[in-house]
Amino acid sequence: MISEKMSVMVKNSSITRAMFEEGKRLAAIYGKENVYDFSLGNPSVQPPVSVKEAVIDIVTNEETTFVHGYMNNSGYEDVRENIAVHLNKIHSTSFHKDNIIMTVGAAGGLNVILKTLLNPGDEVVVFAPFFGEYRNYADNYDGKLVVISPDKETFMPNLKELEEKLTGNTKAVIVNTPNNPTGVVYSEETIKELSKVLEKKQQEFGNPIYLISDEPYRELVYGDVFVPYLTKYYKNTIVGYSYSKSLSLPGERIGYLVIPKEAEDYEEIFAAASVATRILGFVNAPSLIQRVVARCLDSEVDISVYNENRELLYNSLKEYGYSCAKPEGAFYLFVKTLEEDDKAFCERAKKHNILLVPGVAFGCAGYCRIAYCVSKSTIEGALPGFKKLYQEYQEER
Ligand code: PLP
Repeated sequence: MISEKMSVMVKNSSITRAMFEEGKRLAAIYGKENVYDFSLGNPSVQPPVSVKEAVIDIVTNEETTFVHGYMNNSGYEDVRENIAVHLNKIHSTSFHKDNIIMTVGAAGGLNVILKTLLNPGDEVVVFAPFFGEYRNYADNYDGKLVVISPDKETFMPNLKELEEKLTGNTKAVIVNTPNNPTGVVYSEETIKELSKVLEKKQQEFGNPIYLISDEPYRELVYGDVFVPYLTKYYKNTIVGYSYSKSLSLPGERIGYLVIPKEAEDYEEIFAAASVATRILGFVNAPSLIQRVVARCLDSEVDISVYNENRELLYNSLKEYGYSCAKPEGAFYLFVKTLEEDDKAFCERAKKHNILLVPGVAFGCAGYCRIAYCVSKSTIEGALPGFKKLYQEYQEER
């Protein structure tokens, strides 16, 4: 018999994943090319060639124990140092290897840091709409998720409500910019305001409030958009990075945490996060791919493909009559559903073989998420269905 807690988790298991399964079912009936699956953030762009070259060279030429052996729980020292140097070059920071812990993707990093920080009942604040797994990650360590309601005009963080909802039990605030599911990027002004609120509240309560910056989409921005590096604005920031999207390597499970020395209790946090990596059963992040990413720090995926998809989808949906904010980053469009009940809307989209994720999965009903990290032909094939769907709703009015 499984645990009561897991029974609940299984029941509430990710809607996104369920949609993905549904996509496979529909593909078996209608043929893969006639199903338009926008459910999962699985990058459609190939990893850079440098990744493949690095894999081949490392497994061919480097010493086996060096590549495949156990290591420090926090990861290979030279890999961590290279990442620190790379970050310093881009962001004018002053990190070194003892600020970096290699993680099993962003998901692994978030779990490590939450395990490190949370006492049962500690509050973790998130801004709706948010990546739905945050709820499970906080719950893994008996944390309590506190949700700030969305600002549906801008999808920027609602700082007034944040100020009201921070308490003496707040241990962490998670931000995710560029954002899944809205694609918005928080401006520098917003980050400064957010930092001010946190500074004020941690002084008031006399406890550190850690800002966890979940950044799997940092490099996925379109045009000249500036994505501030949060450790430079608020000293109790911990960054969770991932190569899942930036190098199109989601299955390889690789990322890192940045724990700056300025963060309160830095030494304890760093040591505890290394132990958390071990005792969560990760032991260490996968070894081969650590070595690979360290060689590919300047490599990029071709995001022009996502940009073309973004333009085509956004312009077409707007033309049909849908309403949504133009995303500046990531590869998602968050669209207002044509009826209040976003789940019912997504069910109806399925009749056109279009798979979307309802906004409730992100704590924001009345919207749906379209992951446009798909082939252009998927978007072209889906557009007539989106148009018909809009017309159907219009006819019923
Ligand atoms: N955080 C956000 C906002 C995400 O969208 C995702 C994955 O889609 C993750 C974390 C998990 O990323 P990873 O695959 O690196 O664990």
